[in-house]
Order: sequence, then structure tokens, then C-alpha cells
Amino acid sequence: MPLKRIEDYNKVLPIVELYRCVQSEGSRFGRPTIAVRTTGCTHRCYFGEGGWCDSWYTSIHPEKGKYTFQDIINIYDQHPEIKEMMLTGGSPTMHPKLVNELTHFANERQIIITIETEGSAFLETDYPIGLISFSPKFSNSVPVLGGTTPLGSIVDQKFIDTHNRLRLNKDSIKKSMAYHSDYHMKVVVNPDEMPETWAEIRSFMDELEVPKDKIWIMPPGDNRQELIRVYPMVIDWCTKNYYNFTGREHIIAFDTKREV
Ligand code: SF4
Repeated sequence: MPLKRIEDYNKVLPIVELYRCVQSEGSRFGRPTIAVRTTGCTHRCYFGEGGWCDSWYTSIHPEKGKYTFQDIINIYDQHPEIKEMMLTGGSPTMHPKLVNELTHFANERQIIITIETEGSAFLETDYPIGLISFSPKFSNSVPVLGGTTPLGSIVDQKFIDTHNRLRLNKDSIKKSMAYHSDYHMKVVVNPDEMPETWAEIRSFMDELEVPKDKIWIMPPGDNRQELIRVYPMVIDWCTKNYYNFTGREHIIAFDTKREV
């Protein structure tokens, strides 16, 4: 069934942040872009010492949206030199109408959309998306029973089941890899300290036949101090094992500040 279009450009959408920045992760690193952050997520990630999802205000405790499609048009009108969009979340594929409309907008303006997704849903958009930046969630992302969420709720079994329901949706990931223009896999792992997780990731990549040059290893950590601790280990490991490394330069530069 074709995806629907947005009719009212002034309606408030599930978008919590809209701002200019520089893409700081993955294969389009360094490019000036506009970030469009949606709210709502299929997952509830907890990475142990790496902490809760760094955008928990869109996933575990989702804030309400406040921007319209017209706001997106306006920010690109104000900055016509920017030809990139980082569509992130939360889980942007929870909002198929919005994503589809953005592919029309991007096609009209020659903008390349990078969508950040854990891969839970395949969207057959009217125009293919420029880059699918998959960040599949492995067993090291599962919350611990009895843990405390960022705003003080207690993790129960229902919370864990919600997280696992669409985790590693291989069918959806395969379809998205085939349909859209390009993809990469951005995996958050320090193979030296997390060998089991790395083994799980490697077997997933083999099963999906992902070539090595499409895999980017990203160090875990939601704050500057932790990243500075793990960067050397992950960079060394990538050097020795011929993998692409991607940093999290917005956290190095701005620590835990939002909208950067
Ligand atoms: S999938 Fe991404 S946005 Fe959703 S909870 Fe996990 S890390 Fe956060």
C-alpha cells in the first residue's frame, strides 16, 4: 500500500528538535546538516556502563512534538546552502507519513537524507532515502529488571518485552538495505571490553552479508569522560582489524548538551 502524504503543513508533528549542526558520526561525517529529531521509539535501550539511550527524552520518557512541516521548510529556506538532513530520533520510521513527505521535499531540493534507525520498520517511501544509518540493537542494549530509568521509573518485564519486540528485525533491515539508495551499519561496541557483543555483531553481519566497508565501529559512552577513556582502545582495535572507526564528536565537543 502506498504511504500517505501530509496534507496540513502547519500541524504540529512528533518532532522535538530542529536545528543546524555538523554530522558527527558515520560515513557522511563533517557535513553541515539540519537535524530533525522525532519523538517516540520502539526500543528502550540501556547499555550498562554506557548508560541509558542518550536521547531518552524521545524514547523512554518521550516528550511531545512541537514543530510543523512548515518549520522544516522555513529552516531550509533560511539556509539554502545546506543540502543534507539528519532524520533521527527516537525512531523516525514510526512516522511513515512524515518520512515519506520528507523524501518528496528532499527530492525537490536535492537534499540527501540520512535516517538514523535501529531497523525496526521497513518504509517503502515514494523516493528512496539517501542513506540508511542502521544502528541495530544487540543483547548489550537490554534493560535490567529492577533498574531505574532516567526519570526514576522501575524497569519491569513489560518494559523489557517492549524493548525486545522489534529488536533485530532482520527482515525489515534486509528490505531497507535493498530498497534505499545507500546504507551503513553503525555499531556501538568496544570489542576489547565487550567480546561477546562483538561476536554477536559479527555473526549478524555475516548472516545479512554486510561487507566490511559498510560497517562503522562507534565507541560506547554517553558523556565526554567515558568516551575519552574508550576512544584509544576502539581506535587501536579498528586499526589492527581493518574496520572503519566513527567517533561521537558532538559528545566530545559538547558533552551531554542537547541540540548540538
Ligand atoms: S533505539 Fe535509539 S532512540 Fe530508541 S531507545 Fe535505543 S538508542 Fe534510544
